[in-house]
Amino acid sequence: MFSAAGPPIPGGVVTFRGRRIVAVGDDRGAAGLEDLGNVALLPGLVNAHTHLEFSDLDRPLGQAGIRLDEWIRLLMDRRRSRANCHPEGTRRGLEECIRTGTTTLGEIAQPAWPVDAFEAATIQAVVFLELIAARAESVAPALALAEDHRQVRPSNRWLPGLGPHAPYTVRLELLDRVVALSAARRIPLAFHLAESREELELLATGTGPMADFLRGLETWDPGVAARATRPLDYLRRLAAADRVLVVHGNYLDGEEIAFLAQNQARMTVVYCPRTHAFFGHDHYPLSPMLAAGVPVCLGTDSRASSPDLSILAEMRAVSRKHPAVDPRIVLELATLCGAKALGLEREMGSLEQGKCADLAAVALPDWDSPDPYELLLDSELPVVTTWHNGEQVFPRPESR
Ligand SMILES: [Zn+2]
Repeated sequence: MFSAAGPPIPGGVVTFRGRRIVAVGDDRGAAGLEDLGNVALLPGLVNAHTHLEFSDLDRPLGQAGIRLDEWIRLLMDRRRSRANCHPEGTRRGLEECIRTGTTTLGEIAQPAWPVDAFEAATIQAVVFLELIAARAESVAPALALAEDHRQVRPSNRWLPGLGPHAPYTVRLELLDRVVALSAARRIPLAFHLAESREELELLATGTGPMADFLRGLETWDPGVAARATRPLDYLRRLAAADRVLVVHGNYLDGEEIAFLAQNQARMTVVYCPRTHAFFGHDHYPLSPMLAAGVPVCLGTDSRASSPDLSILAEMRAVSRKHPAVDPRIVLELATLCGAKALGLEREMGSLEQGKCADLAAVALPDWDSPDPYELLLDSELPVVTTWHNGEQVFPRPESR
């Protein structure tokens, strides 16, 4: 058992009553135990960044190595080819997350997102409403959407978050208002930042492929981004929010990493390892971030840039690409750090007494190793069971 709150426990036992964990240990003599066989028991996984509307895609859009602006064009074509928000894709995505051991989700949703799908799903979500306003006249309607979203009475299944999209789609006046709303109402905010070199070029000079692409859009206004700025300028504004997920951060520099470290109580970077690999970005600055003390968690991003929605697969990708990172940390990125980023660490993210009984069991290989993490991460074996709030949600008991 890997609790994410201490060292692995061989033959570990998790006892839960109702929706809560009441004990974690190695008491194999206790009555009423269910022997799960040769599996690793983990906290339910946390996928801190997805766009589930694209979950019906069989493979990412475009070829590996595609430039971000070209990919966004494909994404926009895809959206135009059907209703703006796609409930069936979202439903399939929720099912896939549950099947792959995810029990907590950070979802970026479009206005008119399918609330019913989240109400019906056995997963805890934070739904960040995507907000876009490149033009001055779009700021007020975007703010109205943000207010409405936060006022919808959330169920236990989902909590509201705010998702101003990115530096090249969000005017500063909208960003500042949304940051203030986050702080006043204590709701988390997610913002895509430092994702591509083209974004940095656009911010610095107002030119380059991203600028060329944006100029061709009806909704474009050059007032949004050509201001001789850099990601640090955005981080400084974002730091006033209650809690911020800085999505991607592929090209954050040393000064920006130091700033994030100083603001670690409320800012977390979301690393999407296989999406990062799909675009062929420069080596991800994971080690410098961790060394500086920047909180980092994991996301899959959508199936438009990732082969699937498995956080376990993302953990394995991290351990392959960053062999110097302690595997204990890799597990934390996928569990406790994600729960903290979403403001849910008191309830989720580790197997500890009093927390929600959210667990994932992963099949283990039939070879042995002195390093238990190797059995979990140097393998392709899948999640075989998921529990959420003490209930087995995959496979559904009746379908066994
Ligand atoms: Zn995203």
